[in-house]
Amino acid sequence: MSLQRTFSIIKPDATRRNVTGAVNKMIEEAGLRIVAQKRIQMTEAQAQEFYSVHKERPFYGELVSFMISGPVVVQVLEGTDAVATYRGVMGATNPADAEEGTIRKALAESIEANSVHGSDSDENAAIEIAHFFTEDEIVG
Ligand code: ADP
Ligand code: MG
Repeated sequence: MSLQRTFSIIKPDATRRNVTGAVNKMIEEAGLRIVAQKRIQMTEAQAQEFYSVHKERPFYGELVSFMISGPVVVQVLEGTDAVATYRGVMGATNPADAEEGTIRKALAESIEANSVHGSDSDENAAIEIAHFFTEDEIVG
């Protein structure tokens, strides 16, 4: 157990429905601190690169289109075991499988439009954070 950072995206389905604050409330109630945050419109190239690990999957093209369909909020979250803590509060990828009390159970629309992204490892968290933030934009 140690203080860690993870990378989060509040996805276009959530910004469209004006539930950025509802997501942030659940993040903070889980004990995570939002130490950097900005609202951006992702470019197609950024979304393709971000999800390149999924480029062979049948949903890749639609996923990229979805991620650029409106603004997103990119964030750095800090806390004890931040990667695992945030994955826990996000809930399962498919909201139909997500546990009560999770962001995806409460807010997600579908397996694709599932409201939030969270890094799946410390290594990926560092890579993803560096894609969207400089160190001086992160204030813990
Ligand atoms: P997670 O976001 O829980 O880490 P994945 O990394 O497996 O999930 O998938 C990345 C994103 O791709 C998901 O959050 C979701 O938006 C989308 N996705 C995953 N599986 C599907 C699917 N079967 N159909 C459509 N979109 C999907
Ligand atoms: Mg993932």
